[in-house]
Amino acid sequence: IEVVGAPIFNEKQVLNGAVLVFHDITELKKLEEMRKDFVANVSHELKTPITSIRGFAETLLEGAMEDIQLRRQFLEIILKEGERLQALIYDLLELSKLEKDEMRLEYQNIDLSSLVEELLPVIKQQAVKKQIDLSIKLPDTLEIVADADRLKQVFINLLNNAVNYTSDNGKVLLKVSEKLNHIEITISDTGIGIPDEAQSRIFERFYRVDRARSRNTGGTGLGLAIVKHIVEAHHGEIRLESQLEKGTTFIISLPRKPEYSKGLF
Ligand code: ADP
Repeated sequence: IEVVGAPIFNEKQVLNGAVLVFHDITELKKLEEMRKDFVANVSHELKTPITSIRGFAETLLEGAMEDIQLRRQFLEIILKEGERLQALIYDLLELSKLEKDEMRLEYQNIDLSSLVEELLPVIKQQAVKKQIDLSIKLPDTLEIVADADRLKQVFINLLNNAVNYTSDNGKVLLKVSEKLNHIEITISDTGIGIPDEAQSRIFERFYRVDRARSRNTGGTGLGLAIVKHIVEAHHGEIRLESQLEKGTTFIISLPRKPEYSKGLF
């Protein structure tokens, strides 16, 4: 609580009393704390790949370059860390755009089924690498009014996570179904699952259940925060069901048109 005070004098300039104003600044403090945490997190996330890139470049220059095998190995690490840095910056910019003008979506008529078909090759490639059985259940066509690029990002982030957090030979299923005025998208996996206590925090920026694992898979820790923003900007809802060691399902409800957004779910 912040207190501001001022004395009150009567007409003879004798002290008569005082006014005290109590401001409850709990909310403000919390926001300020969150902002500080965010800046600290961003700095940390940027520092890690840069330190690694510098370290390996220096070691190469100090002589490791002569060893063909080491040279290859170190250059691959430098490339991977560079890609992480790029992904992080892309996600940070995306998030800041979404937070600034959430409402400025580019609504278009899109066929959701073709949109999903377009992004599948990349995900399929990742699934094949881990011998994950990826199944897709989509109607032949499904017209909705939404921001195509942003919606693509939602599918990519959730499918990437499903593949990343599922061990080899697991299963990932994407299902899109039509309801009266909205559509339902479910993405389920037979992966590692998310512990109960983490489920309410999973959409926070940089929150990860297992930092090391997320870093290994090239994750930025921002994917789900971006997904939630995009879904909510479309007046949709997202929730999850998950059981440790069994798997996770994300369920999204989206209005088929922005004008259908009220009181649907
Ligand atoms: P990241 O880049 O770390 O994947 P996200 O915001 O996409 O960041 O996800 C946040 C965290 O949520 C992840 O680090 C992981 O711990 C957990 N998570 C997300 N999706 C899944 C999933 N399908 N199965 C298990 N854990 C998941």
